[in-house]
Amino acid sequence: MEKSNGLRVMLFPLPLQGCINPTIQLAKILHSRGFSITVIYTRFNAPKASSHPLFTFLEIQDGLSETETKTHDVTLLLTLLNRSCETPFRDCLTKLLQSADAETGEEKEKISCLIDDSGWIFTQPIAQSLNLPRLVLNTYKVSFFRNHFVLPQLRREMYLSLQDDSEQDDPVQEFPPLRKKDLLQILDKETEVLDSYSKMILETTKASSGIIFMSCEELDQDSLIQAREDFQVPIFAIGPSHSYFPGSSSSLFKVDETCIPWLDKQEDKSVIYVSFGSVNTINEAEFMEIAWGLRNSNQPFLWVVRLSSVVHGTEWIEAIPKKFIEMLHEKGKIVNWCPQEDVLKHRAIGGFLTHNGWNSTVESICASVPMICLPFQWDQLLNARFVSDIWMVGMHLEGRIEKNVIEGAIRRLLLGTEGEAIRERMELLKVNVGRSLKPKGSAYRSLQHLIDYISSFNL
Ligand code: UDP
Repeated sequence: MEKSNGLRVMLFPLPLQGCINPTIQLAKILHSRGFSITVIYTRFNAPKASSHPLFTFLEIQDGLSETETKTHDVTLLLTLLNRSCETPFRDCLTKLLQSADAETGEEKEKISCLIDDSGWIFTQPIAQSLNLPRLVLNTYKVSFFRNHFVLPQLRREMYLSLQDDSEQDDPVQEFPPLRKKDLLQILDKETEVLDSYSKMILETTKASSGIIFMSCEELDQDSLIQAREDFQVPIFAIGPSHSYFPGSSSSLFKVDETCIPWLDKQEDKSVIYVSFGSVNTINEAEFMEIAWGLRNSNQPFLWVVRLSSVVHGTEWIEAIPKKFIEMLHEKGKIVNWCPQEDVLKHRAIGGFLTHNGWNSTVESICASVPMICLPFQWDQLLNARFVSDIWMVGMHLEGRIEKNVIEGAIRRLLLGTEGEAIRERMELLKVNVGRSLKPKGSAYRSLQHLIDYISSFNL
């Protein structure tokens, strides 16, 4: 770590796994550059403070009831959190600024800025009223973030025509490279409640002091140019956050480490890794199709099945006959949660059947693991299109959760010539992204600009 620079950065993650990971990674990066770190967090999905002894952690009340914490409806969750966290957050931040002002002596530390998730829509006015610069941390691909603001308009203008079967594979001009069927899936899942939420995100982001993306020119070049025009605030694309400090120390779930010794026993590039992230749910019928697809592919597999939530509405383990699980274990391993970054980097992994959350997508790219795309909702649909149609480093299941389709894709990816070509392209993409993180690379330079920018708030 560099010598302390006398500046403290406040971070406030959205309490979802896919948002906590990049926030904590950013905290580690800033800390290594001399900043002190305070993480303000909600009681719900609290990050593990003991894993980060060098940071200060402050809990605020989130007002969620026991039932509300169990919801699978992310939109509802974000609405509730934005409603109930505003006052506790304002009180917390005000107190912190007052106590920083009251400090005396040479060692006096200055609070430089607040960095929080684009999904918090009350923080901008609070920071503004306290004269504290706020930077927006964005955990989506740049192209998703800048384009998703057209969704309300697309819903009004296109929704009905989208349902026409013959046009399903047509591109959506306003939202490339989404296809109409992808858009239908996004609009179908997300209710109109999101329209006003999106509007608030747009307004508060435009009013912010800057935006930080966990992406880079190599993955988002055109969108970055356009985003700079759209938002008119400084934009930093510092690259995949996990590349700076590898290791999943921010897991909300208990990590099953036994998968690493299990992988050690498998042949090189033979295992298909399966995970649909921290939020998606599948039902029992889908579970069975995936299970049979994996089993019939005859390749070893490592499958993350989040206890009590993958099979929606039932305890998954109870729903599946014991004999069937035993049969699955002959060829594969099922775990509740794994150290994903380590798993993806393991020599035995040959492919990743993924929901294409942005973190999983970039982690896969950085580990040079080709993907089989099974996106469920929201930005996952766009990330999957980039993987399959633009970068061509994966295959797309086109939503077909069918055993034969899954078996076929695994075989083609791990054993066929199509898979070989995909692997070659993936290696090139990995090298390009890796280069951006090296001195003179785009992400490296952007991070340096970010550090200089945050330091300038001291003046
Ligand atoms: N992850 C993990 N272990 C698992 C599954 C996922 O550590 O068994 C991590 C993964 O490395 C990633 C995050 O959880 O950093 C999931 O984020 P992503 O954006 O891919 O998906 P989300 O959960 O937000 O849908």
